Amino acid sequence: MPEEKRVNVSKAVSTRRPKLKPKLGQHFLASDSFALQIVDALGDVSQNTVLEIGPGRGALTSLLANRARRLIAVELDRVLAAQLRLRFGMFPNVEVIEADILSIDFDSLFGPKPGLSRPGIEFKPTPTRVIGNLPYYITSDILLRLFDYSKYFETLVILVQREVADRIAAKPGSRDYGLLSATAQLHARVEKLFTLPPGAFAPPPKVHSTALRLTMAPRQHELGLDGDRQIADGFIDFLKLSFGQKRKTLWNNLKSTYPEPHLRSALSQARVKPAARAETLSLQESAALFRALRQNHDGS
Ligand code: SAM
Repeated sequence: MPEEKRVNVSKAVSTRRPKLKPKLGQHFLASDSFALQIVDALGDVSQNTVLEIGPGRGALTSLLANRARRLIAVELDRVLAAQLRLRFGMFPNVEVIEADILSIDFDSLFGPKPGLSRPGIEFKPTPTRVIGNLPYYITSDILLRLFDYSKYFETLVILVQREVADRIAAKPGSRDYGLLSATAQLHARVEKLFTLPPGAFAPPPKVHSTALRLTMAPRQHELGLDGDRQIADGFIDFLKLSFGQKRKTLWNNLKSTYPEPHLRSALSQARVKPAARAETLSLQESAALFRALRQNHDGS
């Protein structure tokens, strides 16, 4: 009888080079100095919780494990997550979660814990910093989700496709300004940090990548949009509608939703020309139009 093969499971997981999954945007950082630059951009995290999105083979994780008070790394790939768990098992501050970042329940991760909240005392989340060389196929979805839960986050340092970084940082009136720019700039101050060539990754992607820092600085109050969640969400829906069809004027994008007389008077109240396009409006102008439309609608 052949001798039974004994498999050391932990060794098998730790040494196996997992098959690359291009669909998951797996382009791993191949440069230690760039990894260092990205982690440095997050600042001193010795007192912070850091959320790492898509740790992959751990290029950023290994630096963060030595710096962060607590590190939560969310990886979708089962084999990579298992390898990370083994590699960082000795770090009591590191938690690897095998999950899709788009379905992580941030409220249970960062919100008040049952039994710990006291009546009359408002729960104040400790701000978390977020880092990630993002899987490009879901960059916008990840950002929109982080903005939805922005109360938990203070700074995001992310690596995204260069063209997407240009859109996130674009100013109103420029070719790249659109829904993603407006939404990002409603929630955060955006800084472009540096750009990496495809050769900085293995395997190299077809595009350049840009590191961005987004410092959360919600503008809803300044824009007269705070009050309740409905108003803030309503403004995002309004932006989606305004940017609905890129080549169309605001009038054409909005007229199927708002009665024409209301739209006409709101545009004039907000001093916005009906022939203007959404990408030419500052956030103040968009917010003024949204407020005027709400007033006219509520008052009708
Ligand atoms: N951080 C590593 C680095 O810089 O070398 C890997 C970055 S790689 C561009 C993106 C990582 O995100 C991959 O490890 C991939 O498996 C993971 N990923 C893809 N989709 C994901 C998702 N929905 N949720 C969490 N992680 C995901």
